[in-house]
Amino acid sequence: MDANEIYERIVNERRFVYIAGPCAVESADQIMKAAKFLASKGVPILRGGAYKPRTDPESFQGLGAEALEYLAEAREETGMLVATELLDYDMMPLFQNTVDFIQIGSRNCQNFPLLKKVGRMNKPVILKRGFGNTIDEFIKAARYITREGNSRVILVERGIRTFESATRFTLDISSIPVIREKSEFPIIVDPSHPAGLARYVEPLALAGVAAGADGLMVEVHPDPRKALSDPLQQINFKSFSGLMEKTESILGSLGRASLKLEEGQRGQYDIYK
Ligand code: PEP
Ligand code: MN
Repeated sequence: MDANEIYERIVNERRFVYIAGPCAVESADQIMKAAKFLASKGVPILRGGAYKPRTDPESFQGLGAEALEYLAEAREETGMLVATELLDYDMMPLFQNTVDFIQIGSRNCQNFPLLKKVGRMNKPVILKRGFGNTIDEFIKAARYITREGNSRVILVERGIRTFESATRFTLDISSIPVIREKSEFPIIVDPSHPAGLARYVEPLALAGVAAGADGLMVEVHPDPRKALSDPLQQINFKSFSGLMEKTESILGSLGRASLKLEEGQRGQYDIYK
C-alpha cells in the first residue's frame, strides 16, 4: 500500500494512523533499530528528520542526504513508509524516491511559496501547525497546498506558544473538533513537542485520541538520553508500547480502528489490515 492509498483510508474509513520515530536520524543503526521495533508494533509510518530546523545554528542540523539513505534502508528492510521534513524545496530531488510523506514543519506553516510547490507534487503532505498560528490561519495554509492540485494534506496539532511555560508549548486540544468541523482534512496530534518532557507525552497523546484525532505523531528513540536533538521529550520503546496499548483501548471504545503494518512479503512487513 502506498502513501496515497493510506491517505485515502484515513479519510474515507476514518482509520487512525501512527507515525513514530526519532526526532532526527542520527545513524544507520539508530534509525534501523527504531524502524524494526516500530514495524513489529504495526506502526505504518516512520518519521525521522534529515534536515532539522534548529533554533540555534550551532546545534545538530541533521545528517541531510546521508539520513535520507538510512531512511530508505529502513523502509526497504521493514516495509514502513517514510515521513521527513522538507525545509527547502531545493532538497526535493533527494526526496523524490525515498520519502513517502512530505512533512512541512511548524516554522514553515506559512511559507507560502514552499506550500505552493508541494501542492504541485503527488505525495501526501503532513502540515504542522505554526506555533503562532490560529486555527483559521492553519486551515488557510493547507489550502495553499490543495489549490495547486494536491488534495492530500494531513494537519498536525503540535502545540502553540502561550504565556504558559511549564510545558514547551500548549497543546491546543480544542483545535481537533474545530478543524474536524471547519475542514475536510484529517487532523493528527503530535504530543512530543508540546510536552517537552517524556513523562507528559502519554497524557497529551491520550487526550488527543479521546478528542477525536485521526492519528498520533510521536518521537520515539532507542535511547532518548543519547539523542542529538530533543532528548528530553523522546520516549523509549517500552513507553511507546504502553502508549499504543492505551490508545488502542480508547479507539476501541470510540468504535475506531488503527491502520497497521502486518507481517508480509515486502521487507518483513507489508499488509495493512
Ligand atoms: C519535527 O516534528 O521534527 C519538528 C521539528 O516539529 P515542529 O515543526 O512541530 O517544531
Ligand atoms: Mn523534535
